[in-house]
Amino acid sequence: PIHDAVLGGAAEYGDAVALIDGTDRTGATTITYAQLDTFHRRLAAAFADAGVRKGDVLALHSPNSVAYPAVFYGATRAGASVTTVHPLATAEEFAKQLSDSSARWIVTVSPLLEAARRAAELVGGIEEIFVCDEADGHRSIRTMLGSAAPEPVLAIDPDEDVAALPYSSGTTGIPKGVMLTHRSIATNLAQLEPFIPMGPGDRILAVLPFFHIYGLTALMNAPLRKGATVVVLPRFDLEQFLAAIEKHRINGLYVAPPIVLALAKHPAVAQYDLSSLEYIVSAAAPLDAQLARACSARLGLPPVRQAYGMTELSPGTHVVPLSAPNPPAGAVGKLLPNTEMRILSLDDPGQDVAPGEEGEIAIRGPQVMKGYLGRPEATADMIDADGWVHTGDIGRVDEDGWLFVVDRVKELIKYKGFQVAPAELEALLLTHEGIADAAVIGVYDEDGNEVPKAYVVRQPAATGLTGDDVLAYVAERVAPYKKVRRVEFIGGVPRAASGKILRRELRDREDRAGREDREKE
Ligand code: ATP
Ligand code: MG
Repeated sequence: PIHDAVLGGAAEYGDAVALIDGTDRTGATTITYAQLDTFHRRLAAAFADAGVRKGDVLALHSPNSVAYPAVFYGATRAGASVTTVHPLATAEEFAKQLSDSSARWIVTVSPLLEAARRAAELVGGIEEIFVCDEADGHRSIRTMLGSAAPEPVLAIDPDEDVAALPYSSGTTGIPKGVMLTHRSIATNLAQLEPFIPMGPGDRILAVLPFFHIYGLTALMNAPLRKGATVVVLPRFDLEQFLAAIEKHRINGLYVAPPIVLALAKHPAVAQYDLSSLEYIVSAAAPLDAQLARACSARLGLPPVRQAYGMTELSPGTHVVPLSAPNPPAGAVGKLLPNTEMRILSLDDPGQDVAPGEEGEIAIRGPQVMKGYLGRPEATADMIDADGWVHTGDIGRVDEDGWLFVVDRVKELIKYKGFQVAPAELEALLLTHEGIADAAVIGVYDEDGNEVPKAYVVRQPAATGLTGDDVLAYVAERVAPYKKVRRVEFIGGVPRAASGKILRRELRDREDRAGREDREKE
């Protein structure tokens, strides 16, 4: 069971600090390993006492906090499957997840209680809403820590029982509930360990959300399993993030590309002492090699390490080992132990590409999900009869076994028979000093050709930057078929909480603009 896999050593780590509230300037809000061990057992008892039964789904609706892990493992120890919810979900979005997952219990925090109540009303069938802090009329997790109820004794089948039910990011469609068993999560942690060793003395900053599988794994499960200290922040605020690194002498950062971008480019970075940092890992979205280099050079660190995975793979399949002295620029990593990979031809389904060529990444291993909850067809689309997960991502492997991810199959822009990866153009745009951020999608020109369009955020000082400047900058640096052919300046690039560009929001914006133009005509 995941709570044993992660907290099996907690009693031994004893008074070592497991979690620190990074928003508390005094640094006094902490939880030790001994407390984490006791707290999650008491919560398991209190949940069972409240009526939580094995197989029930409990929705955990909270920003990152020091209480989050105790609630999570307390719930799994009570036999529940935890579905983690975006703290900023609207009541309607939350209600969808509750009904899709057939959740019966909710744990929230008082500032989010209204949304939780409305969501519960919309779906019905919720037994109880617990509140981490205090709120009238609700049982408080804090009070439940004093429970004298006996710890439930349950037979958990690690291969069958679902520990976590995270939802995929919804980048390409509606978010799907991913059934991850105790075994798949625990196995993936063990697979990741040799690549990213952690231990007592490591100080990790949890700024990415625990509700997403990347944060849950890299920032909660992996460090807590090994006795490291996790400093918790509820959201990404650059200054607060930098101040926390300085104050808590953080040595390991697990981030997504937008944070690498901020570290490489933002002027505020120079005002903080970040000398405690030893390494940076980036995952969840494509990271450009040049940007990665700019970041590590600025901070005087070894190359930014990448990792690759997806919710459906618990989530890891590739990591650039911390021990690799000179990983090739842009590589997302080497295949984890006990995992198999194929690169499948896009033109000739079922066939492997020739070595070194690009194709769809397919994965098989013990970290593969049990399936999408309630979506047998989507599951069958994703996992074939031989157990291979078709990731929808395009990649290639070099002769030394390093994987490079190009982009998603679905996002490729088809310009007159050529394929253009938006991620490549976005990376190039970010090398322009007047560009703070950028996103690229395919749009249709007057002749019906799909062409790359760039949405560009100017640097504050670059008010004079024009669309023609952007077009020319790209045209000078890429083959003609890859040229950006449309530019629009925007205030910010829409992103999911995991850091991914939400290209479908840009597509919607494009469709709306197209409709308005037609209406004008
Ligand atoms: P949905 O499946 O709901 O459309 P999603 O695929 O964005 O959303 P996640 O499971 O959070 O949901 O993300 C997995 C995806 O993230 C991968 O399929 C891949 O496209 C991308 N990804 C993860 N790591 C990397 C990386 N290092 N480089 C490039 N892309 C990455
Ligand atoms: Mg996906």
